[in-house]
Amino acid sequence: MTKSFLIILCVLLAVSFSACSNSVATPYENEEFAMGTIIRQRIYHDNAEDISRQVIDRIRKIEDRMTINKAGGEINKLNSSAGKSFVELSEDTLFVLNKAKEISELSQGAFDITVGALVKEWDISSGNSVVPSQERIHSLLGLVDYADIIIDKSGSRAKLENTGQIVDLGGIAKGFAGDEAIKVYRENGVQSAFISLGGNIVALGGKPDGNSWKIGIRDPRGAEDSYIGIVSVKDKAIVSSGDYERFFERDGVRYHHILDPKTGYPADSGLIGTTIISDFSIDADALSTAAFVLGLEKGMDLIKKFDGVEAVFITDDKKVYITEGLKGIFEFEGTGNGYEYVEKG
Ligand code: AMP
Ligand code: MG
Repeated sequence: MTKSFLIILCVLLAVSFSACSNSVATPYENEEFAMGTIIRQRIYHDNAEDISRQVIDRIRKIEDRMTINKAGGEINKLNSSAGKSFVELSEDTLFVLNKAKEISELSQGAFDITVGALVKEWDISSGNSVVPSQERIHSLLGLVDYADIIIDKSGSRAKLENTGQIVDLGGIAKGFAGDEAIKVYRENGVQSAFISLGGNIVALGGKPDGNSWKIGIRDPRGAEDSYIGIVSVKDKAIVSSGDYERFFERDGVRYHHILDPKTGYPADSGLIGTTIISDFSIDADALSTAAFVLGLEKGMDLIKKFDGVEAVFITDDKKVYITEGLKGIFEFEGTGNGYEYVEKG
């Protein structure tokens, strides 16, 4: 799936850089397709090519375990054993399931990976999607409940309570992969790098000249390279969700890929885009999806529960709101595209 929501705006001004012996002025850049999206890496290190391969291998391993698009993975086994038996899972998969449950609880079910059966029914990216009947949506809604993910910690196993239930990690797995990529960079002594997983950005350190990375937040109604503002960060994940990433239109209505687990329909909360800035991209990924479903007020309340997590909200009437902690870090640039920056009291 592509989530090309964010663009890197500033190419490095690699004039002077740190004294680290492994840092190099010229970045190594690499693009690969994995997890249904384009993975872009930029690494400043003299062994960067090898490190980028290690990262891709790690991401492919995560993809194999968590995808529902290829046979044989752990989530596929969990889904096909729904209502029947426990399935042995790797630490990776258990970690993501636990995190997903935690965010589900904190968001009162706005984020819920058991929306899988509905995601499958809507089949938003297929190119020939149809709007499911209300009866069909109603019956599939009965399969959505994160409380039915039973995790047996001691045995490293999990189970879905009811037959037909489907877990879909599309809203969180790339976030996990981003954090794992940063671990690989660190293990190899990298001090400056960033990775974009279809627009999920994770930055390690700052730019080699010591300045912050400048990340553009895409205009949800503009071209891929147009943006409504810039955040300046070091050592942060920047993850966005929006109604423009994958959608189809019927009779003038946009049906997008983020479903409201309470209604079974694409979330209609008054938002067209959310961006989360946090230390870990797994949190940012789950929270951007959750906040998108919750809408401005409840989404803000959710983000406030987390220390060090910040957010940008874009409403369908083109208003841009940020959390308190982003003041001085976020630069609004959306006036020319018809956006309005709103200070919240
Ligand atoms: P994201 O692009 O990270 O916001 O995630 C959207 C993807 O997560 C969708 O394509 C679905 O695979 C899945 N998804 C859709 N709605 C939800 C939801 N309410 N909670 C969790 N995952 C969802
Ligand atoms: Mg997400």
